[in-house]
Amino acid sequence: PVRVRFCPSPTGNPHVGLVRTALFNWAFARHHQGTLVFRIEDTDAARDSEESYDQLLDAMRWLGFDWDEGPEVGGPHAPYRQSQRMDCYAEVAGKLLDAGHAYHCYCSQEELDTRREAARAAGRPSGYDGHCRDLTPAQVEEYRAQGRTPIVRFRMPDETITFTDLVRGELTFTPENVPDYGIVRANGAPLYTLVNPVDDALMEITHVLRGEDLLSSTPRQIALYKALIELGIAKGIPDFGHLPYVMGEGNKKLSKRDPQSSLNLYRERGFLPEGLLNYLSLLGWSLSADQDIFTTDEMVAAFDIADVNPNPARFDLKKCEAINADHIRLLDVKDFTERCRPWLQAPFAPWAPEAFDETKWQAIAPHAQTRLKVLSEITDNVDFLFLPEPVLDEASWAKAMKEGSDAVLRTAREKLEPADWASAESLKEAVLAAGEAHGLKLGKAQAPVRVAVTGRTVGLPLFESLEVLGKERTLARIDAALA
Ligand code: GLU
Repeated sequence: PVRVRFCPSPTGNPHVGLVRTALFNWAFARHHQGTLVFRIEDTDAARDSEESYDQLLDAMRWLGFDWDEGPEVGGPHAPYRQSQRMDCYAEVAGKLLDAGHAYHCYCSQEELDTRREAARAAGRPSGYDGHCRDLTPAQVEEYRAQGRTPIVRFRMPDETITFTDLVRGELTFTPENVPDYGIVRANGAPLYTLVNPVDDALMEITHVLRGEDLLSSTPRQIALYKALIELGIAKGIPDFGHLPYVMGEGNKKLSKRDPQSSLNLYRERGFLPEGLLNYLSLLGWSLSADQDIFTTDEMVAAFDIADVNPNPARFDLKKCEAINADHIRLLDVKDFTERCRPWLQAPFAPWAPEAFDETKWQAIAPHAQTRLKVLSEITDNVDFLFLPEPVLDEASWAKAMKEGSDAVLRTAREKLEPADWASAESLKEAVLAAGEAHGLKLGKAQAPVRVAVTGRTVGLPLFESLEVLGKERTLARIDAALA
């Protein structure tokens, strides 16, 4: 049975790279009817925070992910927060030491730095040089007497490590490139290098899908796994698959600190979780060459890790918005009407709740649905309906109210007055006729009307907007613009 894990560290705000990793693990688990383990890697007290932990859980829920074992749901390997599993890491570290798979290393940071520099200068590999691998009891005695406290270092076997990456195919690492590495700090705190594979082993993880940035830790973890198998702690070595880098602006790796990468930003702007997930799935995967838009269910049905492209993927905000816009249009109109609610309220809509009118909202919503890229755009697109006067955008006004606009607007008013106000089509014909009288196409003729009525040059379909606003208010606004 497939068992995968999503195991973020609760530092900072959730970001899109993290979401992509969660998505691929989730889709893989669901596709194979496997188990998704959600584990919190919070062993770094200096960087982890409770706030970040809460945000992670909230983000997972918002995205619509479910997990079979982990926080809030429990499971046979509980607890799922590493900060609550410290005893078990100390025990494993002790067993590794006893069996000779790890040793105490007394080298000070200064000594390490000096030797690394020397190795570099001589063109030798600059990783740990094995200095403390085989200390004699007398040497240990001396270091202790000097008051040194050791770290625990894992002894890498002197052999080449080869594995078949699920995304990248066969990869080989030679011993000089994978030196012995620290697994427990001098103060006793276990490191990621230990706790991550130990928990993967104890939680019987079968497939590790994670970002390419962790590729260099894989040969170390495989070696550690072999030791854990020998000690009866692990049953086997999982398969590894490394997801491609996500590139941001200027073809640089998208970093956590990049504002574009913050999940909160997407939530605040009103991305739909399904739209965002659809886009993020395309960072390394695709459903088919000719279908960009799909549901998470369709993704789950089709997901095969072997189809993931190892090449870096470029994060393209425009495309992300376009895909989200398509998902907005796919919503049932009732659902759309409800999902916009937060942006029709304070703090997004300064005019709410006093000026809000439910009947008008219900009437305009279907037209708004065809235009939005993200839900937050709704606020400025419908305020003209609720406010006593439109919010005049100076630039729009200057653009639309050029010479001759007054005359067009006056004619439009004349033609609109007797039109059928229950029919957007009839209102359109009125403005069309006004344009013809001045030798203008519809687009040009409607611009001053739009600005007079909504305050802006772009917005929702105009004639439907006029119909919902009503005859009296529309004409009053045109009069005000002409005055
Ligand atoms: N806690 C690690 C991280 O967030 C997990 C890495 C892994 O998937 O092995 O980077």
